[in-house]
Amino acid sequence: MPIQTDAVIIGAGPVGLFQVFELGLLDLKAELVDSLPQVGGQCSELYPEKPIYDIPAYPVVGAQELIDRLMEQIEPFSPGIHLKQQVQRFEKRDDGRFTVVTTAGTAFDAGTVIIAAGLGSFLPRRLRAKGLDAIDPGLVHYKVTDRERFRGKRLLILGGGDSALDWTVDLADITESIDLIHRRPEYRGAPATVAKVKALAEAGKVREHQGLIMQVTSEGGTLQGLEIMDLEKNKQVIKGEEILVFWGLAPDLGPIADWSLDLEKKQIQVDTEKFQTSIEGVFAIGDINTYPGKKKLILSGFHEAALAAFAVQKHLHPDQRQFLQYTTTSPIMHKRLGVD
Ligand code: FAD
Repeated sequence: MPIQTDAVIIGAGPVGLFQVFELGLLDLKAELVDSLPQVGGQCSELYPEKPIYDIPAYPVVGAQELIDRLMEQIEPFSPGIHLKQQVQRFEKRDDGRFTVVTTAGTAFDAGTVIIAAGLGSFLPRRLRAKGLDAIDPGLVHYKVTDRERFRGKRLLILGGGDSALDWTVDLADITESIDLIHRRPEYRGAPATVAKVKALAEAGKVREHQGLIMQVTSEGGTLQGLEIMDLEKNKQVIKGEEILVFWGLAPDLGPIADWSLDLEKKQIQVDTEKFQTSIEGVFAIGDINTYPGKKKLILSGFHEAALAAFAVQKHLHPDQRQFLQYTTTSPIMHKRLGVD
């Protein structure tokens, strides 16, 4: 059975989270979906430890702390939170409501859709190299779902961050060999993990290489190895049977680009009264939208969420009288917030 809701919010970044609050004040229910395993969007994924200085009333706040505070603020409205799934399909039905389906098969029957998708979904940076099309795509992995698959294999691991190093250490015991290929001699992982990788290299269990991936070499569809070019422009082929790529995550607009919304340079065009898109009942807020004078700032996204909430209310209940109530003095808002 699809989950019934007033609004599906695509993206649980700071702006999507605050949207839950603004809807909640108007007694509207929301469900949040995000492709990442945690809420917080760019703040939690890209710069959790960094201080932010331009959030009103916070002279300084850590990016993750801001997200933690937003989660606390939306708690009274208990939104459904659906992580690790990308919104893939949405369809406006004849009754004006929306069917929204995620990659995990979660289905919603929603009165409105609010796109707060920031830069898009964060997806693993893909390997792109000459010769890649000639091999079975199943030999190139972007995550480890079953480590046993790599038992006894000659493995090529690409990357120099925490994931690449952690999996090098973890899989060294069960693989025949691991060749770790990174652009630079310096790794970006935790010092303790770097030390473990160096120890494995000294013990001959891991071979380290520096260079850029030039080409995938294969014979009759079977992977032979990767040709790399080092900093002195010397080329060599590193042999291996399967490839694990850990080059971090990059944002991708993904399926949203195919939803027949008016776009301008990959941004969704909206009006500045309702933040509605070219499809009635579909709104877009935060970094994903564009309008004259748009600034990609968290505080702009918060303002957009407030106005979008009123527009969602109007869309769902066109005959209901709308009036502004202060959270300070409104008994009904106190009730909704549970602060009576
Ligand atoms: P995002 O934070 O990008 O969140 C969008 C979410 O949507 C993501 O979690 C993504 O996984 C999800 N998503 C996308 N598509 C789908 C889909 N199809 N299905 C499911 N989920 C999906 N701003 C400031 O105001 N002040 C600052 O000091 C500041 N410093 C910054 C420093 C850095 C290093 C960076 C990178 C940005 C900074 N910003 C700052 C910008 C700020 O982080 C963004 O404006 C803000 O994160 C936008 O919030 P959002 O909720 O619109 O989008």
